[in-house]
Amino acid sequence: MSEWKQWDEKYIWHPFSPLASEPPLAVERGEGAYLVTTDGRKILDVISSWWVNIHGHAHPEIASAITEQVHRLEQVIFAGFAHEPAAQLSATLMSLLPDDQSKVFFSDDGSTSTEVAIKLSLQYWYNQGQPRRRILAMDGAYHGDTFGAMAVGDRSSIFNQPFVHHLFEVDYLPFPEGDGSNTLEAMDQLASTEHAAFIFEPLVQGAGGMRMYSATLLDKLIQHARSQEIICIADEVMTGFGRTGRMFACDHLQTQPDIFCLSKGITGGFLPMGVTTVNDKVAHAFDSKDKHKAFFHGHSYTANPLACAAANASMRLLLTEEVQQSIARIGQCHASYLRRRQPNKHVLDARQTGTILAIELKVDDGGYTSTVKDRIYRHFLDRNLLLRPLGHVIYVLPPYVITDEELQWVYSEIDAFLDDLLTLEEISDVTVKTN
Ligand code: PMP
Repeated sequence: MSEWKQWDEKYIWHPFSPLASEPPLAVERGEGAYLVTTDGRKILDVISSWWVNIHGHAHPEIASAITEQVHRLEQVIFAGFAHEPAAQLSATLMSLLPDDQSKVFFSDDGSTSTEVAIKLSLQYWYNQGQPRRRILAMDGAYHGDTFGAMAVGDRSSIFNQPFVHHLFEVDYLPFPEGDGSNTLEAMDQLASTEHAAFIFEPLVQGAGGMRMYSATLLDKLIQHARSQEIICIADEVMTGFGRTGRMFACDHLQTQPDIFCLSKGITGGFLPMGVTTVNDKVAHAFDSKDKHKAFFHGHSYTANPLACAAANASMRLLLTEEVQQSIARIGQCHASYLRRRQPNKHVLDARQTGTILAIELKVDDGGYTSTVKDRIYRHFLDRNLLLRPLGHVIYVLPPYVITDEELQWVYSEIDAFLDDLLTLEEISDVTVKTN
């Protein structure tokens, strides 16, 4: 074993993994939609490495944008100082987001972007001398791993269990079923002038299992929250930048939120970055020379120039005709796969929103701790496909450079896996769902 792999095994604590897990795969380089391991395997990255690499790995245009920037300015304190890459990126984001969005606040990742959004919405009310203390969120939500983000996430998940007693109070709406009247009724009963904000993952709950709901329903929920002047926060960390077929999931809506949280695809997966944008209404509550009304929040690497240069290049690529066509093409491929696939007794539901395809198995799997996930993960990895199921939900969330042929390969491997599976007990040690 090479020396660095021994160091990895000895010292490194990998995320979302028990300390005593199997040694991870050693990756030497990335090439477009593929990861190349040190032992020469080429693995198709079907989940864009945790949903970030929208243009694939090692894209030369993003790489050269960073190289150019690194020789000019690598980092600068962002309080009292400014630089062009951040200003350029803000102008691009403003041109893509709804017209009333007016200010951009930078942070480090998806969790900090939601953390900032929650703090801003609470301070919005504080600054006006009418504090509101409660937050509305949705069952099954995932908004990140920092304390505020955990507080608005699903309380029953294994991620948050050890910390539940330290999380602030949140009111949860049930996840929409059928036409979503269960969620609307709960909104009707719960929403009040005590709520500072309503935070949601628009159209698709990611980590919760790629659970999808309609734009029509979300429009109604936002309108309802608005009737109590509740600040609406769209966590577009996963859904942003083309994932749902449009630039943002909220582009499918008639009514726009007040705050957007962005991250993941923004830099094309080259460098970490979080962004929280607010509309005029929210910004107005902070528009004062009074220090008590300022937002005293920031991180050392706020608006890091290298990350901004990567994001500017990622945005230039995203806006090309070629990438826009790829997004549409992936959506069409998924849709035609769903139309032609044969019913399978192990599949509870197969669904799609834009470039996201999800296949939910009939296994009551006990969530993240289940062995189903591990077994499916290993099955596909043995066939050089990186598909990392969310419990019993297999999903495809590819980089936009993936070809039609590669997508067909993925679908046929999924079909073969399901066809070969005689009983779900083969991959699970838990109950099989009956409907
Ligand atoms: N919000 C959503 C909707 C996410 O999917 C995630 C990450 N999966 C986060 C927030 C947290 O992002 P990060 O892991 O970059 O902190």
